[in-house]
Amino acid sequence: MSAPTLVTPYHLVSSTVARIVDLGRGFRRFTFTGPAVHRLASGGYDQRVKLILPLPDRGFADLPTGGDWYLQWRALPDECRNPVRTYTVRALRPEAAEVDIDIALHGRTGPASRWATDAVVGDELYICGPNAEHGGPYGGVDFLPPAHTDQFLLAGDPTAVPAIAAILESLPPHARGVAVLEVEHASDGNALGRVPDGVQVRLVVREPGRHGSRLIPAVEVAAAELCGTGSCHDTPPSTDLEDVDVDAGLLWEAPRNDEDGPARDRTRLYAWLAGEAAVIKSLRRHLVSERGIDRKSVAFMGYWRQGRAEDGR
Ligand SMILES: Cc1cc2nc3c(=O)[nH]c(=O)nc-3n(C[C@H](O)[C@H](O)[C@H](O)COP(=O)(O)OP(=O)(O)OC[C@H]3O[C@@H](n4cnc5c(N)ncnc54)[C@H](O)[C@@H]3O)c2cc1C
Repeated sequence: MSAPTLVTPYHLVSSTVARIVDLGRGFRRFTFTGPAVHRLASGGYDQRVKLILPLPDRGFADLPTGGDWYLQWRALPDECRNPVRTYTVRALRPEAAEVDIDIALHGRTGPASRWATDAVVGDELYICGPNAEHGGPYGGVDFLPPAHTDQFLLAGDPTAVPAIAAILESLPPHARGVAVLEVEHASDGNALGRVPDGVQVRLVVREPGRHGSRLIPAVEVAAAELCGTGSCHDTPPSTDLEDVDVDAGLLWEAPRNDEDGPARDRTRLYAWLAGEAAVIKSLRRHLVSERGIDRKSVAFMGYWRQGRAEDGR
């Protein structure tokens, strides 16, 4: 009897660029297609995937592509290991074998942004994403609001705009709240799609080179407004928030309904924050320590760290 085939929640698919659309001065939408792209799935909201990028002179010559590609990839010498970066599924159309990824351009400082700046239709890329054959849950979704959420506070920098756009499109039409987006250029708001009528979108244009300097005060204003409507927790502000060293560790906490149920049942405002780690840390402290929002109702993710590549290389 042959051993049953293991169906993993994520798998690696090859793809090529089918279309490139400039959504604003700082944003580019890539539509990828390929023979196995229809076998990708998505858990919705802020579903993340990994993009495996070509090496400048070797392309994908050394990339292992079997079911255990990741283990083999990790064992490769540095110079043969293709860069892997994390991105959000902006839209998935399995019937057309297409997936859209929106990439915030930040110059030629990293392999992903460099690739996105230079790429042309037909260029090749590998995507490690949810495996439709698995059926889910796949993992990789951190927007997990409690069942009784009345209002949402969504905030982030350009790297979080695709996730916030996808979340807004998935919210029910009666959803209420505020989304604060820090963008490089006002035109980057084009990356958004459908927004529920009850959610206000506030774009703040970044001061050149000063991540978060406008996002932080804009989120504080939004939090004050939302808490003023009585959506915040009734308990005193939490003072026991442990410090996270964003240079040493990952800034990431996404409370889950199944693990955090009872406390979250009482919470009426749900906040989701993502972007540069130090900025997000400061926003989280404001919401939890100063505004008294239940920490189990605040998801916060350091999507990148200033001065540090995603893989630390
Ligand atoms: C779950 C998740 C989802 C994400 N989704 C998206 C998405 O949909 N779209 C998107 O554009 N990004 C997204 N990001 C962020 C993206 O993965 C990072 O910006 C990544 O570091 C870019 O890789 P790189 O190769 O261009 O730069 P790296 O090689 O990682 O870094 C090189 C240098 O560039 C700096 N840097 C990295 N990103 C930025 C930036 N955005 N602005 C300015 N400087 C930067 C670093 O600090 C470093 O100094 C996501 C991240 C996570 C964790």
